[in-house]
Amino acid sequence: MSTAPGGLLTVTQALTRAQALGLDRLDAQLLLLHALGRGESERAWLLAHDTDLLPDEQVNAFEALCQRRLAGEPVAYLLGHKEFWGLALAVDARVLVPRPDTETLVEWALEVVDAMGLPAAAPTGPRVLDLGTGSGAIALALAHARPALRVAAVDRSADALAVATGNALRLGLAVDFRQASWLDGAPTGLDLIVSNPPYIADGDPHLAGLGHEPRAALASGPDGLADLRSIIAAAPAHLTPGGWLLLEHGWDQAEAVCALLVRAGFGLVRSRADLAGHLRCSGGRWPSKSLAELG
Ligand code: GLN
Repeated sequence: MSTAPGGLLTVTQALTRAQALGLDRLDAQLLLLHALGRGESERAWLLAHDTDLLPDEQVNAFEALCQRRLAGEPVAYLLGHKEFWGLALAVDARVLVPRPDTETLVEWALEVVDAMGLPAAAPTGPRVLDLGTGSGAIALALAHARPALRVAAVDRSADALAVATGNALRLGLAVDFRQASWLDGAPTGLDLIVSNPPYIADGDPHLAGLGHEPRAALASGPDGLADLRSIIAAAPAHLTPGGWLLLEHGWDQAEAVCALLVRAGFGLVRSRADLAGHLRCSGGRWPSKSLAELG
């Protein structure tokens, strides 16, 4: 994408060259805006300024971003942020990029806590724990959507927690972050446990395309279910009767996860579809007996 000697590139020329190199049109636009110090919402600026000449310095910055994108880095890492549930989250290679699919889990979690009845004032609402929080996406979305909730979150990775706490601080959201592996050292009496754990099988060829994201956040044993199994086995001891466990999993794991939930003694076990129509989340209420039966 180097300029002809003495020549400068226009906005349109820079974008056209990036696409000729193999970049997606939207990615090219977002990366050019970033190189120009402009926000993602300014795509109209590119159209209005299509014949503007770009200084070499900015063309070089854009070219460097394009090369990184072509080498497989997620656009969110290059821009340094990703929108999730309407929140601008800082993300980098220390955390998984939040996926829109995970908003299915947030929606379900909100329905569950709303059905429990939310007090008007913080901090007396239901107690929620997000396991493997990464950038903090799920925990922060819940804290933002329902300020009365008492939201805590854990991650085994200190690096991930640094990203998550930075996001909470920037967004002014109160989430209690702690370093832990799944439910180790977690309190009892929780109303809701949510998690988007790693769930891709170790040998899945799909992992190759995700090489820039932390493998520990993606892969989970020969069948991808190792962490889901651990969480399902440990959750009952930490849930209050009537509390819920909601999990994200792979597009083809709903049946296996529901079977694990039933076997562990959960009731009302069911799955929910993501935007693409795949059964992406499963969950249940602890225990399978009705609350009346529990007395
Ligand atoms: N949804 C991600 C993907 O398949 C995986 C996320 C995860 O393992 N929790 O790209």
